[in-house]
Amino acid sequence: MSPVEEQVRKVLLLEKAKGLRDRAVLGGLDRYLKRLVENHSLSPESPLLHSIAALPSHGYASLDPARRRRWLESTLSAVSGDAAAPASPRPAGSQPGPLRRPPAPATSGRGRTLPARKQAVSGEHPPTERALEAPITVLRGVRQALSAKFARLGVHTVRDALYFFPRRHNDFAHIRKIAELVVGEEQTVIVNVWSAEDTRIGRRLRGTEAWVADETGMMRVVWFNQPYLARQLRTNAPLVLSGRVNLYKGQKTLESPEWELLESEDLVHTGRLVPVYPLTSGLPARTARRTVRDALDTYLEALPDPLPDGLLSRRRLWRLQQAVRQMHYPDGWQELDEARRRLAFDELLVIQIGVLRRRRLWQEGGRAQPLTLPEPVRRGFLESLPFRLTSAQQRAMESILGDLAQERPMSRLLQGDVGSGKTVVAAAALVAAAANGRQGVLMAPTEILAEQHYRTLCNLLAAGHEMGWAGLLSPPYLEKPLRIALLTGSLPSKEKAAVQREVAEGVVDVAVGTHALIQEEVGFERLGLAIVDEQHRFGVMQRAALRGKGPSPHLLVMTATPIPRTLALTLYGDLDISVIDEMPPGRKPVKTLWTVPQERDDAYRFVREQVSEGRQAFVICPLIEESEALAVRAATQEYERLSREVFPNLRLGLLHGRLPAAEKDRVMRAFRDHDLDILVSTAVVEVGIDVPNATVMMVEGADRFGLAQLHQFRGRVGRGAEQSYCLLLSDDPSEEAQERLKLMEQTHDGFVLAEADLRLRGPGEFFGTRQSGMPDLKVARLSDVQLIEEAREEAGALLDADPNLSDAEHALLAAEAARLWSRVVDEVH
Ligand code: ADP
Ligand code: MG
Repeated sequence: MSPVEEQVRKVLLLEKAKGLRDRAVLGGLDRYLKRLVENHSLSPESPLLHSIAALPSHGYASLDPARRRRWLESTLSAVSGDAAAPASPRPAGSQPGPLRRPPAPATSGRGRTLPARKQAVSGEHPPTERALEAPITVLRGVRQALSAKFARLGVHTVRDALYFFPRRHNDFAHIRKIAELVVGEEQTVIVNVWSAEDTRIGRRLRGTEAWVADETGMMRVVWFNQPYLARQLRTNAPLVLSGRVNLYKGQKTLESPEWELLESEDLVHTGRLVPVYPLTSGLPARTARRTVRDALDTYLEALPDPLPDGLLSRRRLWRLQQAVRQMHYPDGWQELDEARRRLAFDELLVIQIGVLRRRRLWQEGGRAQPLTLPEPVRRGFLESLPFRLTSAQQRAMESILGDLAQERPMSRLLQGDVGSGKTVVAAAALVAAAANGRQGVLMAPTEILAEQHYRTLCNLLAAGHEMGWAGLLSPPYLEKPLRIALLTGSLPSKEKAAVQREVAEGVVDVAVGTHALIQEEVGFERLGLAIVDEQHRFGVMQRAALRGKGPSPHLLVMTATPIPRTLALTLYGDLDISVIDEMPPGRKPVKTLWTVPQERDDAYRFVREQVSEGRQAFVICPLIEESEALAVRAATQEYERLSREVFPNLRLGLLHGRLPAAEKDRVMRAFRDHDLDILVSTAVVEVGIDVPNATVMMVEGADRFGLAQLHQFRGRVGRGAEQSYCLLLSDDPSEEAQERLKLMEQTHDGFVLAEADLRLRGPGEFFGTRQSGMPDLKVARLSDVQLIEEAREEAGALLDADPNLSDAEHALLAAEAARLWSRVVDEVH
C-alpha cells in the first residue's frame, strides 16, 4: 500500500467509525478526494482512482448511508489490495453508462456494481431472479398487515416493490431557508408548524391555513379544499414543503404545496433527492421508503436486464438496475430524467412489440383477395359523384386502393376531421370489393349512424334511390346490380334473419350495420373488405371479430377523432395511417363562443333568430355519466322546459339513447327533413349525423365534455353554405375547463384540440378507458414522440431478426411482452 493509499484508508476508516456522516475530514470527503487526486499523481491503474471515479457526479456527499457504506467497503478493500478489486467488475467500455458525463477512467456503474461488491465482501449468496417473484413479506419488517397495505397500491412481489416508483422527490440537496425563498420558483423548505387551522379562503372555498417557521422567519401556507389537513399538522411538527411561492398581500405564501412530515433528520443530511411514494392510509412515508429501500439493497442485483447490449448502446440507454436505482434515489434531476427515459423506453418497446406482432399476425395470417378497381369503374364512380374529391380525399383513396390491390391484407386507419368526407372514400373501397365479386361490410357504432351510412351509400352508389332495409341498386359503372343491406339490432327479427341469410348466401354485396354485424350468427360468404367507422368507439376485440368474418379480409378503420401522432403510433400502431387534412371547399369555420349562464337568454334569442331565417339548431344536454336513465330524464326535462317556456312556438324534437331505434330514426328524419327546428339531444348525437341546414350547436354544461367531443358536436353544424355557430354554456367551469373552452373558441383544428385534450385529461379520458385497449403506462408519457419512434424502430428491427423472439437474448423481452399483451393477443385468436 502506498503512503497515499494508507492515508486514505485511515480517513475512510474514520469516516466509517464516525457513522458515515461525512465528518471525517474538514470540508467533506469529496473535497478531500479531489485535492488528493490533484496533488498526487496516482497511476491510471490505481484501484483508488477507479473507486473515486465510480462515485456519482455529486460525490460521496450525495450518497445515502447504505451506499456510502458500500462505497467505503469496496474502496477499503480495493486499496488494501483485496482480490476482488478494482471496484468495477465489468470491463471498461462494456456499458453505455450515463449520458452527459465526461468519460471516467472506470465505468461509473453507480449503484449497480457496488451491491455486487457488498455480496463479495459479506460472502452472502446473491439473490436469484426467482426471488423477485417472492411476496414482499420477505423484505425486512414487512408483516401481513403491511403487505396488505402495499397490495392496495398494487405492490405484491419484490419485483413490484422495485418498480414502485416515487410520485416525486423532495430536493434535500437544495433546501432553502424561508428568508431565501424566491417568488415564483419551485422550492423545498423545512419548517416547524406554529399553527394550522381549518378556515374559509375567499367566499366559497374551505381549506387549511398554517403558519410555519424556521430560524430565518415565518410564512403562511394554504391548502385549498383540504380543511382536514389542519388536524394532521400538529404544532411543532417538522414539515417538508415543496411548492411554488406566491405573494399574497405582499407576503410570501406557499399555495397547496406538497407536504410531508419530516420523520427523520437523516434524510436531510443525505443532501439528495429523496423519493416520495404514493401513499395509502396507514402506510407512513418512512415505511414505504424503508421497504423499497430494502428491496433495492437486497434484490436489485437480481433484476435481469431484458434489453440486449447492442440496443442499449445504440439508443444510449442506461442499464436497468442503474435506472431503477436512480428512479428511486437519483443523483440529480438529470439522472432522474435519464432513468425515466430508460424505463419509459422499456414500456414503449413492449407496446410496440405487441402492436407490430399483431400487425404481422394479421398480415401473415393468410392471403387476402387482391381487389383491383378497373379503370372504367373508377372513372364511372368518380363521375357519378355530386362533387369532386378534394386532393386529400384523392390521396387517401389512392393509398387505400393501392393496399386493396395487394395479397397482403390491408390494415389502414383513415383519419379525417368531422365533415372532411371519409364516407365517400369508404364507398370507393366498397365499389372495389363489389367489382371483384367480394362482399364489403361497413360497421358503425350507433344505429342512427348506420342508417345514415346506409342511405349515404345508397345515394353515392346509385344516385338517390329510395330503398327499404335492403335493396337492389344499379350503379351505371358496375356490370351487375348491387345488393346493399342494413343490419342493426333493432330490425324486426324476421327481417334480420332474412338479411343475415342473404349475407351468408352472398346475395348481399354491401352490408351496413352496427354491432349486430359481428354477432355469432352473421356469416359472410365471401367477405373481402371490412370497414369500421368511428373506430375509437370499438375495441381491438371488435376489430378482430369483424376481421374473423372472412378469410383475411382487408381492413379499413375510420375515425373523426383526430388522434395525436403519439397515440396513433401506440394505440393504432398496428395500422397504416392516412389522413384527410383538408375540408371540402366552401365550408366556413364555425364561429364559437363560450357563454356564461347569464347570457343564456341572449343565446336563446339568437337561436330564435336563426330559426326565423329558416335555419335549425341543436341543443346538447349536459353529460351525465352516472346513469343512462338520469341522462334521459335530464334531457326529457330540458326538452319540456324549452318547448313550454322558451320556444313555445317552435317545433322541437328530443333524441336520447333510450328511445327505440324506430323513434330515433323518426326524430332524426324529421330534423333532417326540416320538420323540426330544434333538436334537443344527449351526447348520442355526437357521431356522424349530417344535417346541412343546421347552423347552431348549443352545448349546455360544455365544461363536462372533452375537447374531442366538443369538436365532434361542433362538426354537426357548418356543413352547409350558411355561417354556423357553436355556443358553449358552462355554469361553473374549473380552471382547466376554462382553458379547454377558450381553446375551443380559438382553434378549429381537430389535431390541435386532440393534442390539448390528451395533455389536459390524459389518454384514458381521451378515448374512454374502457375501450382503449391500452396497457397501463407507469413511466412513459404519451407525449414523447421521439422515444415512441425509437421504440418502434427497435421493435421492428427485433421482430425482423427474430419474429417469435425465440433467441435466448430476447427471452426476457418475450416474457415481458407476453405479460403485457396476453389479454390483447387472446382477443386476436
Ligand atoms: P365525415 O368525414 O365526417 O364522415 P362525411 O363523409 O359525412 O364526413 O362528409 C361530410 C359532408 O361532406 C357530406 O355531406 C358529403 O356529401 C360532403 N362531401 C364529402 N366530400 C366532399 C367534396 N369533395 N366536396 C364537397 N362535399 C363533400
Ligand atoms: Mg363520418
